[in-house]
Amino acid sequence: MVRESTHGGDATLSVLFISDLHLDAAWPAACEQFRAFLREAAGSAEALYILGDLFEAWVGDDDDDALRAAVRTDLATLTRTGTACYLMHGNRDFLIGTRFEAETGCQLLADPTVVELGEERVLLMHGDLLCRADGAYQQLRAQVRRPRWQRRFLRLPLATRRQIAGAARAGSRKHLQRTRPEVMDVTPATVLATMRAARVHTLIHGHTHRPAIHEFILDDAPARRIVLGDWYEQGSCLRWQEGRFALQPLPRPAS
Ligand code: MN
Repeated sequence: MVRESTHGGDATLSVLFISDLHLDAAWPAACEQFRAFLREAAGSAEALYILGDLFEAWVGDDDDDALRAAVRTDLATLTRTGTACYLMHGNRDFLIGTRFEAETGCQLLADPTVVELGEERVLLMHGDLLCRADGAYQQLRAQVRRPRWQRRFLRLPLATRRQIAGAARAGSRKHLQRTRPEVMDVTPATVLATMRAARVHTLIHGHTHRPAIHEFILDDAPARRIVLGDWYEQGSCLRWQEGRFALQPLPRPAS
């Protein structure tokens, strides 16, 4: 648990949570919707939390393709106009680094992080760490999160990094097809242990693309696990305002 920020001083302002947009030039509709979301909903919020997998792939902050440049510009506009923006790494975009932070005004968050919403401490995660049953994935994750591995990867030419990322995505698709659905979801015992360790009764995460608010009892008190949705077919946003959460699908305007 690394840093804490506090929200809720002004009841008229909301705090928004999104994840798993998987932005990629191959799916322009999601990009357009996200850019409109930044201008409209996020522009009037106190803070926006992006809990991982904003991008389908990220091979380094020096990637100069048009989509990434446009998103960087829009995020910079958002933070300059008064909305704080926090970004957690997902399993696709874990190489987003300090140059991206400087260019956008977004702040990278460790996974996990605890924030304070009004009176309540809330745990934020991308969600992949909760999927303990997928041992092959956890092994891969440990490898690519090592600083030494990342330094070596980032020294490769941009074109090579793009090729490797493309191959990794193909491998990930195969792995998903071969893996049983329950293995791809969170491990219930890990959820409870993680929430206990963080001393929270609310957990917000993405990654599994199974949007829902799960309510249960943790150590004799009501608890909830809020799962954010992906942006493949439509958008998804969790809004916190005046102590209440609302998980909303965001219909995609016909283009
Ligand atoms: Mn993910």
